[in-house]
Amino acid sequence: MIYYYGFNIYNIKPTSMSTITPTAKQHPLIIKGSMKSLYQEVIKCKMCPRLVDFREKIAKEKRKQYNDWVYWGKPIPGYGDPNAELLLVGLAPAAHGGNRTGRVFTGDKSAEFLIKCLYDVNIANQPNSDRLDDGLILQNAFMTPVLKCVPPQDKPTAEEIRNCSNYFSYEMEMLKKVKVILALGKIGFDQCLKYFRNEFDLKLKDYPFGHDRRYSLPNGKILWACYHPSPRNVNTRRLNHEMMVELLDKVNSYLYNYNYVNK
Ligand code: SF4
Repeated sequence: MIYYYGFNIYNIKPTSMSTITPTAKQHPLIIKGSMKSLYQEVIKCKMCPRLVDFREKIAKEKRKQYNDWVYWGKPIPGYGDPNAELLLVGLAPAAHGGNRTGRVFTGDKSAEFLIKCLYDVNIANQPNSDRLDDGLILQNAFMTPVLKCVPPQDKPTAEEIRNCSNYFSYEMEMLKKVKVILALGKIGFDQCLKYFRNEFDLKLKDYPFGHDRRYSLPNGKILWACYHPSPRNVNTRRLNHEMMVELLDKVNSYLYNYNYVNK
């Protein structure tokens, strides 16, 4: 028998392990506001069988370091201010990021990089994005992925992107005040062009993707291209903090000047 300071340690009952469970009730845009019905539908979607299987498998198997989490394991909605002038468009939630936490750019390496950059240019109120109840607020900005479920190897099929494009189109229609769309990565960039092609005669070849390339669309909105803040791009220094902050500064200046001229 082992005694420690007079206690029999085998009689000490372990306290129950507390779990972290993200719920729809913690997500402001699912419970209220203009995007509520859309996002209540999105989080129930099962249109892509491969992605449904994958997101649930990841949620069940988990990564060891997140064993105390009950993974979200569903499609994820956008996040931010629905009246924002800046829209950041990503690709899809990360397996142990958005698919775990229930929020876009939350709880993974891309989020760590991006939110710190947004904080450094006063778009985010804090440098971290860890979980639904962490207090993150985006000032005049909204972010969403074009694909709401995590794809295996971060590679969605053309059909899966097409399936989800309806939700993306609804978001674009609802975000009426957007003046600048910052597309994070080529897939997001092309999806934006495809959305606007419904309205205008645009040819994708006239809009080559490249970091910090900026295009004025026929409706006056700006489509701005940016390398995706993925660990691969950041680790290879294809995209670094300085480049990202410089681009975000330009976006801020554009919006400031736009509002000054049009006030
Ligand atoms: S990717 Fe989009 S369309 Fe496919 S299951 Fe997820 S939410 Fe539904």
